[in-house]
Amino acid sequence: MFSKRSFKIISVAILALIAIVVAGFFLPEQLMIPVRGATPADWNHNSFWFKPWGKSGVHRGIDIFAPEGRDVISACSGIVVYTNTIENGGKVVSVLGSKWRVHYYAHLKQISTVAGRFVSRGEKIGTVGTTGNAVGKPAHLHYAIITQIPYPWLYRSERFGIDRMSYLNPHELLMKGR
Ligand SMILES: [Zn+2]
Repeated sequence: MFSKRSFKIISVAILALIAIVVAGFFLPEQLMIPVRGATPADWNHNSFWFKPWGKSGVHRGIDIFAPEGRDVISACSGIVVYTNTIENGGKVVSVLGSKWRVHYYAHLKQISTVAGRFVSRGEKIGTVGTTGNAVGKPAHLHYAIITQIPYPWLYRSERFGIDRMSYLNPHELLMKGR
């Protein structure tokens, strides 16, 4: 069994883990519009959860329209947890920010960050493009916010309603305090 000493180390580790999780909830979060120079006029305010929406059935984010090549900037400080080229999203970047929320940026022309890097709010992470299923469409940034700890009160008894617990409305969060 565990010795007294290893038990103490485990207890400290668990307390530290709890402290990190709790701190994640209380870090202040003021989001920036993640395209340089963009304003709320550059996205449809009702496009979050718009359906039907292509192959994915329902839209789970907002599309911020901007000229191709415009800087995509991180909406918040955080850690880049994922960059890749995928079928629908094209070139994508995911940043883990405060409150255990992942900020997802898709259809990038170029990715200019790497997984594991800390980014500050407003830092460039790529450029606006038309990659993935945005090929042939006007250039835009698909921006989604996914909470890693689902919110059961957002559940809806409809198709894709379970996803409502994880996907937050970027429009509402970007408009906060405006
Ligand atoms: Zn989109």
